[in-house]
Amino acid sequence: MIDSRKVKEILFSLGVDLCGIASIDRFDDAPKGYHPLDVMPSCKSVISFGCRFPVGTLSCKTPIPYTRVRNSITPKMDAIALDFCIEMEKYGIVCVPIPTNESEWDKNTNRWRSIVSQKHAAQAAGLGTIGRHSLLITPEFGSMIWLGCVLCNQELEPDEMKENICNDCNLCVNACPVNALQNREINQNDCWNYAFGDDEEKQIWRISCHKCRDICPYNLGSQNKGLSC
Ligand code: SF4
Ligand code: SF4
Repeated sequence: MIDSRKVKEILFSLGVDLCGIASIDRFDDAPKGYHPLDVMPSCKSVISFGCRFPVGTLSCKTPIPYTRVRNSITPKMDAIALDFCIEMEKYGIVCVPIPTNESEWDKNTNRWRSIVSQKHAAQAAGLGTIGRHSLLITPEFGSMIWLGCVLCNQELEPDEMKENICNDCNLCVNACPVNALQNREINQNDCWNYAFGDDEEKQIWRISCHKCRDICPYNLGSQNKGLSC
């Protein structure tokens, strides 16, 4: 047997900065086909974790560092999820890693979706709360955190969920150059078409917008305070 404390000890030893546990009953509102039980019918707990994203990338004059970190941290989260699943198998517990940044088209809702939403898993596991800009905000690191999660076939003691952090100030909504945040659900196409893509002059792929992240008063969190440049 293994308990929640041991689960977190393993995750911290693998390099995560935050982790938490959600019970399966916290996913009742998941869209059809995207519930943890739609992926792993024996799932009893969802374990979410996060790694810090360097805040200096927000204030660079070139998009290259932000893009590079985002492209590097994605496989890092997947690797942690994979190693964690193998570690848990040594204790006789079966876990399934959820890809960090892989989505498929959901024709029922006309949206791209991960097979289980990383952000909703993190919220259910008490890491933070989803802001109006559609990013997770954590008390410790604001939105400067990347997420991973695994589904687990064992019941584990869940963490308490956080009180809402976003104050609905709408700064992010007004800062978005393409009005992608006008509705409660982000307009994925408008955001992605604007923020992601090729710089034709320099012939590179880059992420050129994170204005909604930059402007949020909660974007850094208590442990990043004083790090803005
Ligand atoms: S990343 Fe840029 S385009 Fe996308 S929602 Fe945020 S501000 Fe808008
Ligand atoms: S900028 Fe304001 S409305 Fe947007 S996520 Fe942050 S607190 Fe919420």
